[in-house]
Amino acid sequence: MHFWQTPSFLFLMMGVVIVVAMVGIYFVASSYDSAEVLIISEATAVVVLFTIGNFIIRIVDEIIGANRMKTEFVSVASHQLKTPLAEINWQIELLLSKFPGGLSEKQQMLIGQIAHSSQKMSRLVNDLLDVARIDRGKLAMNKEDVDLCKTIAEAVANQRPFALASGVELRLSCPITSPRVLADKKRLTVVLDNIISNAVKYTKSGGVAEIFLEAGGGTIQVCIRDNGIGIPAYEQHDIFKKFFRGSNAMKNNTDGTGLGLYIAKNIIEQLGGRLWFQSVENVGSEFFFILPIIKRV
Ligand code: ADP
Repeated sequence: MHFWQTPSFLFLMMGVVIVVAMVGIYFVASSYDSAEVLIISEATAVVVLFTIGNFIIRIVDEIIGANRMKTEFVSVASHQLKTPLAEINWQIELLLSKFPGGLSEKQQMLIGQIAHSSQKMSRLVNDLLDVARIDRGKLAMNKEDVDLCKTIAEAVANQRPFALASGVELRLSCPITSPRVLADKKRLTVVLDNIISNAVKYTKSGGVAEIFLEAGGGTIQVCIRDNGIGIPAYEQHDIFKKFFRGSNAMKNNTDGTGLGLYIAKNIIEQLGGRLWFQSVENVGSEFFFILPIIKRV
């Protein structure tokens, strides 16, 4: 699309045309003492404005249509990728379970690498599907009674091997009576996986990532704190944008898509909560989210 076809340029032109038309009509009205001339000049101005307005609406329609097609393409492509990926994962598991003794160490290592790559691809496909659902406003959400501490403990357990391999200590402190929240357990797990894995991924070996809860006024606040690389101040306003990755994050860790926080924020907001963060570069980051607690009467 050329610059002169963009809606902002056309709106600017429309503004200019309105000013010129008003000034023109004023001069016409003051120079000619005739109602016909005034009506004709006003009608001409209205036709010109109407044509430009129509043009703008058509272009905006085209942009919306192209965006919808892009979202649909991502959704269809991701759906098509899901089946072969599931098959690959299944065949790998079969291979490992059928010939555990018959495979050499090297073969096991290579199959392990294939499994790792295909799991990464499955995660990416799931993320793309979630993004397409969010963009179409169709991210379905179950509302069920969820044991928050149990769900967090499971998410922490998921990330333990990764933390261990990265040399990052993972701590969790939960109150004795776990709060219960009205949420979608599967989607809440996605949020926790994304934020906790980020805390580990963006923290150097020897660092700490901790998760703790704070209750207050009908909500529960979850905090995920790390003493990692932090987020540069000038990039903090972009952190929840789709596909955005921080410059220091890309330098330190090439693995990432910039979709995790976009998805997490949308899920928490759809659950009636809020997600935010504070961070200082080279000091660390804290991500917080609140969810409404289920009150027992
Ligand atoms: P990804 O981790 O795949 O790049 P995310 O959407 O999860 O994408 O995060 C977006 C960006 O936010 C990251 O690329 C990184 O720059 C920044 N970020 C998120 N969490 C942290 C963290 N705990 N510490 C430092 N930077 C973070």
